[in-house]
Amino acid sequence: MYLVANIDQSICAATSCKLCTQYCPEANTIQYDNEAGKDKGFKYGAAYVAVDRCKGCAQCVWVCDNMAKHHAIKMEMIDQIGDAALTENITYHDKNTKAVLASPLKG
Ligand code: SF4
Ligand code: SF4
Repeated sequence: MYLVANIDQSICAATSCKLCTQYCPEANTIQYDNEAGKDKGFKYGAAYVAVDRCKGCAQCVWVCDNMAKHHAIKMEMIDQIGDAALTENITYHDKNTKAVLASPLKG
């Protein structure tokens, strides 16, 4: 087991700053979905993490805590995350990116 970044969409979608997406050192790992959370009444979309690409450096946590001051990201054990976006389940469209959330990862 290992730690990966997990974003609280209810916090993120209240601000939509997108700062973390600019600082993750791993390409295509923190992504942004304009529609995430809209069905729950959130004002904006939200960032999410493709957990199979996350190397656990926690840089995004520092950015969200200290630069954005939103405290929306926590490092969590990968098998403890309820819903996780996986690269193979992320589909790309012409002008936006959509995550299809997989069931909890095990093992
Ligand atoms: S820095 Fe925090 S609030 Fe901003 S987009 Fe990333 S997770 Fe959301
Ligand atoms: S922990 Fe590091 S690799 Fe993982 S999403 Fe955050 S910045 Fe990217």
